[in-house]
Amino acid sequence: MEKRIVVLGAGESGAGAAVLAAVNDFDVFVSDKGEIADKYKELLKDYNVLYEEKQHTEELILNADEIIKSPGIPETAPMVVKARQLGIPIISEIEFAARYTNAVKICITGSNGKTTTTMLIYHILKKAGLNVGLAGNVGQSFAYQVATKEYDYYVIELSSFQLDNMYKFKSDLSVLMNITPDHLDRYDHKFQNYIDAKFRILQNTTAKDSFIYCSDDEVIINEISKREILATQLEFTQKKRKVKNGAMLSEDEKSIDYVNNSSKTLTMLIDDLSIKGKHNVYNSMAAGIVAQVLNIRNDVIRESLMDFKNVEHRMEPVLTIRGIKFINDSKATNINSVWYALESVTTPIVWIVGGKDKGNDYEVLRELVEKKVKGIVCLGIDNSPIHKAFDSMGLPMVDVTSMDDAVNEAYKMGKPGDTVLLSPACASFDLFDNYEDRGNKFKIAVRNL
Ligand code: ADP
Repeated sequence: MEKRIVVLGAGESGAGAAVLAAVNDFDVFVSDKGEIADKYKELLKDYNVLYEEKQHTEELILNADEIIKSPGIPETAPMVVKARQLGIPIISEIEFAARYTNAVKICITGSNGKTTTTMLIYHILKKAGLNVGLAGNVGQSFAYQVATKEYDYYVIELSSFQLDNMYKFKSDLSVLMNITPDHLDRYDHKFQNYIDAKFRILQNTTAKDSFIYCSDDEVIINEISKREILATQLEFTQKKRKVKNGAMLSEDEKSIDYVNNSSKTLTMLIDDLSIKGKHNVYNSMAAGIVAQVLNIRNDVIRESLMDFKNVEHRMEPVLTIRGIKFINDSKATNINSVWYALESVTTPIVWIVGGKDKGNDYEVLRELVEKKVKGIVCLGIDNSPIHKAFDSMGLPMVDVTSMDDAVNEAYKMGKPGDTVLLSPACASFDLFDNYEDRGNKFKIAVRNL
């Protein structure tokens, strides 16, 4: 009998997984508790895949030989609990897709900087003329591409939720940017569970594979010390420290030195990097190391790091009006990313912050806020955590519940030479559809000033 594959959740990854299962002649069924977007319904119809929406029909799901679960569905969802009780294997779309490709897989994970680093690596590989696909949070799903294209390389962004349901998958080059507490609601509020999820990126790796990581991150270093890691390790650091393999700062801290066996292979002036700020130095270090492991020519790496354009909503310059610069960092949905955003701005800042708080500890930002922020616009339904953290500093603070008001208030607080920075530290779901919607509304409001 045909093996039955049930896909739970029909977003980009679920629809892609269903297509891949269909072209491999499985008996496929897709079930989504919510509405399925029209474009995915069309796609499923094109491949004759049966689906249901706004419901989960038990009899059609629990007869699966294997379930592919979208990363957005938590373990606690009733249908997942039932499938587990019955012992039905549950995997992620990435795990499934990897069975059908022999391409070299470059995987990027971490709490922050995943998308930027993924895009940057993809940019370098493309420029080097490699036949490469981009998969993860941006663009088409890995499974859909495996079903419809023939790439030699894939650059794949992996969230902890995707890693959770990966077992046999092996990443050839694994990049780990950093680990800071995030999404703990999905990990029993245990940080170690989240760390373990991130380290799944190394499962099944051998000495032929590479592990590229930030050695300034104590959580990562501590975890490495507890594990036996077979993959070849390459580290990157911005501390005053010599690295044997990987990337570090030059003596004068103005360049990145990439090194192999302690000899310098490439030097890159930080001022020449197209993306700015300390966090982007990390991202550029990681991407450059990957390129070197893949033997990409230095001039290609150099040129790519100089002309890369970052993705929307990540420290994206919008406009300068009356000498006030507006930056859209709507994707900064946790404290750590805001830290880097504040750190990278060199002018006084009017900071637009707030939204759906995931239990933030704002204390970490205090020093930077004291040093750089001249006014705070709280944009959210419940701004009390922000007030609690910063009221005592005596900065001008206003509360608003619309993006137009936020931009207007920030504009009033600003003076020529200042920067208005939307870097919310929170999810967007209280007032917006998602972080893209929030960022787009910011840009519209700025253009309307
Ligand atoms: P992710 O895909 O992991 O969410 P992004 O590349 O989309 O990461 O960046 C999200 C936000 O995090 C950006 O707005 C930026 O301010 C911040 N950021 C980017 N790279 C890093 C990094 N290496 N370390 C910390 N923060 C970062």
